[in-house]
Amino acid sequence: MPKTILEVSLISIPDNLLDVIYTACRTCYSPEGAVDIYENLTDDTEKKLNLIRKVISSGHYSTIEHIQVTFAINNISRAATHQLVRHRHMSFSQKSQRYVKEKGEFDFIVPSAIEAKRDLYDKFLIHMRETANLYQEFIENGIKGEDARAILPNATASSMVVSLNLRELIHLANLRLCTRAQLEIRLAVKRMCALVEEREPWLKEHLVPKCERLGYCDEEKSCGRKKKKNG
Ligand SMILES: Cc1cc2nc3c(=O)[nH]c(=O)nc-3n(C[C@H](O)[C@H](O)[C@H](O)COP(=O)(O)OP(=O)(O)OC[C@H]3O[C@@H](n4cnc5c(N)ncnc54)[C@H](O)[C@@H]3O)c2cc1C
Repeated sequence: MPKTILEVSLISIPDNLLDVIYTACRTCYSPEGAVDIYENLTDDTEKKLNLIRKVISSGHYSTIEHIQVTFAINNISRAATHQLVRHRHMSFSQKSQRYVKEKGEFDFIVPSAIEAKRDLYDKFLIHMRETANLYQEFIENGIKGEDARAILPNATASSMVVSLNLRELIHLANLRLCTRAQLEIRLAVKRMCALVEEREPWLKEHLVPKCERLGYCDEEKSCGRKKKKNG
């Protein structure tokens, strides 16, 4: 069945995120020990944010690696999850196509560009139905899910739990919020960032496409958001 709504939940983020990063930052520059710094933390949020902003902008990223966030994601294509799993500092648990057999008409994601063209969309649906029938025939004839999945398309809907630290989330945003990234992964990462920003609004300035961080576009062609470096 076509699945249209990407679902993303933020299932874990530390409540004391600022305290953790601030302690890490101050530990690097203070004669006091980390324990004393943590046990005598200031209540002044602006003071914490000022130091954290300075440290992040100077590229001292180890201080934000202590923060781990976890998301649950539903209704995302295998094409998009394949792109996500290329990120090597993230942890994944994904619905198995070996242990979970697709039943009847399996769920799939329709790219909006195809959905917008009625005749191509109809052909897409026919292809999915024929694939589901063939998959079912394989299963009924004793082919294991791990082999029958060979015919499932990149559009097959998947589900995963994803964990990553804050440094990697910023990197992910820099790469995947860029308009050069494919629309589906862009929307998934945008949703992930929005959920984190709801909890920690100060992160909005960091969860941006890379051109915002660089001040220019380093892609072959600029979308116009920022000019090319020498353009
Ligand atoms: C628009 C776009 C188009 C793409 N097109 C293609 C494509 O056509 N074909 C393709 O194969 N991939 C493609 N990719 C995937 C891309 O090549 C990366 O594999 C993916 O974006 C992960 O990025 P990363 O390696 O920077 O990040 P991560 O794996 O998340 O790593 C983060 C950072 O850690 C460091 N790091 C991690 N591992 C190593 C290592 N082994 N050695 C040194 N430093 C390391 C690097 O600084 C890296 O930037 C594309 C990505 C984007 C955003």
